[in-house]
Amino acid sequence: MRFQSYINGQWVVGSSEGVDENPSDLAAPVGAYGIVDAALTSQAVDAAAAAAPAWGLSNPQQRADILDAIGSEIIARRDELGRLLALEEGKTLGESIGEATRAGQIFKFFAGEALRIPGERLASTRPGVDVEITREPVGVVGIIAPWNFPLAIPAWKIAPALAYGNTVVFKPAEIVPGCAWAIAEIISRAGLPEGVFNMVLGAGRVVGQALVEHPKLDALTFTGSVGTGTALHRQAAARGLKIQMEMGGKNPLVVLADADLDKAVECAVNGAFFSTGQRCTASSRLIVEDGIHDAFVKRVQERLAQIKVGNPLDASVHIGPVASKAQLDTDLAYIRAGHEDGGQLLFGGEQVQCATEGHFLAPTLFAVEADHRIAREEIFGPVAAVLRARDYEHALALANDTEFGLCGGIVTTSLKYATHFKRSAQVGMVMVNLPTAGVDPHVPFGGRKGSSYGPREQGRYAVEFYTTVKTAYTAA
Ligand code: NAD
Repeated sequence: MRFQSYINGQWVVGSSEGVDENPSDLAAPVGAYGIVDAALTSQAVDAAAAAAPAWGLSNPQQRADILDAIGSEIIARRDELGRLLALEEGKTLGESIGEATRAGQIFKFFAGEALRIPGERLASTRPGVDVEITREPVGVVGIIAPWNFPLAIPAWKIAPALAYGNTVVFKPAEIVPGCAWAIAEIISRAGLPEGVFNMVLGAGRVVGQALVEHPKLDALTFTGSVGTGTALHRQAAARGLKIQMEMGGKNPLVVLADADLDKAVECAVNGAFFSTGQRCTASSRLIVEDGIHDAFVKRVQERLAQIKVGNPLDASVHIGPVASKAQLDTDLAYIRAGHEDGGQLLFGGEQVQCATEGHFLAPTLFAVEADHRIAREEIFGPVAAVLRARDYEHALALANDTEFGLCGGIVTTSLKYATHFKRSAQVGMVMVNLPTAGVDPHVPFGGRKGSSYGPREQGRYAVEFYTTVKTAYTAA
């Protein structure tokens, strides 16, 4: 299979070719993909700009019907799409089918939102004058996405963009061209006018840059690493681009001495290691109160010993491979940093040999101090750090002692501490007796501090980014 880009209603081969790797079996790539250049990216933005005025005035029922049809097809084909995702990104088949289903549900949610675009009418302070507040599309929205949720993240950006009447140029991450193509292929048959939706495959520094620098781009929604996001933020600010940035996390899961131990262990193992730890919401810091610390660590070690790492299509596998060689190298470098900084390896720490050659890594747990690199920097792999806390106040201080602020969790049976943590955690999303990873699609998603910038994603809060407000005064 050779995946292609989609520009102005046409499939475009591109000027060179890349390999779509299978991280579970390097000898059997998923396929190849055509790489477009800056000139073709520019054509995609021009096409989106040309289509924007008419699409912005389109009938919301038409938009709702199209989004609903896209959502229905994704859900109907979730097994096949999930398999592609598992092959290309390495999530287990169960997780992948779940993500495909979620992507379809998100399109259906925003189909409804297209018919509920809010507005207001207020009494004027001047006699004989009416004041109306309406929302209009922003125009051409650039979407730059990461690889770790290659169906769901594009869905939660593309669906609201189209629902609120914007046109789109979508640039997926390089290592997941198949999932991007699959979404684009479904969208291409859904009845959108030419130019309303475009998808460009290629490198971030070429295609992504051409997109961000294009003068006809009106808004940019980015999800990815802090490094890329910060650089794009500066460029966007310099040219006054509306932006939404979702970046990294170093999410704490606090376990108090009064916690249900079984629940605490499941929350930690699920949050830190499932999806190979490659979730921005992963519980990468386990902050455990003295009274339960040793029992918790022992139980997590026992639980990790039961975890099977391997091919994500094998139903008995719990954790698939790391998604790429680059990410594996990062993970291994952090494991070395864990040793260098004086951390104590509690589990894993080495690559796993499977029947096929792939990027398999054992779930890895370190006991660390708060200033160690693996306690402070986002790793984005199956590597978690355990920190010991004297009491709740110390645990809360450790939880907030980070430049990130995406999400945080607490496992406790105390209503008092649960309530205090919900109010005091410096995060955008907070979980009580649940893993930090795992969110609902119909409510806001996003963080604080270095994790996020701009309006929230998802749910009806998405309207803030994908529309602009107009205030109209009318005298009789
Ligand atoms: P990344 O920053 O390397 O890449 C993200 C996207 O940016 C890719 O499409 C890439 O091609 C593009 N890009 C790279 N350089 C660019 C440039 N110079 N100009 C324009 N575009 C460019 O991130 P990644 O490795 O794909 O994803 C992992 C990161 O994403 C992690 O840090 C993770 O925490 C974050 N993430 C955050 C959330 C969230 O909602 N907060 C969700 C998922 C992932």
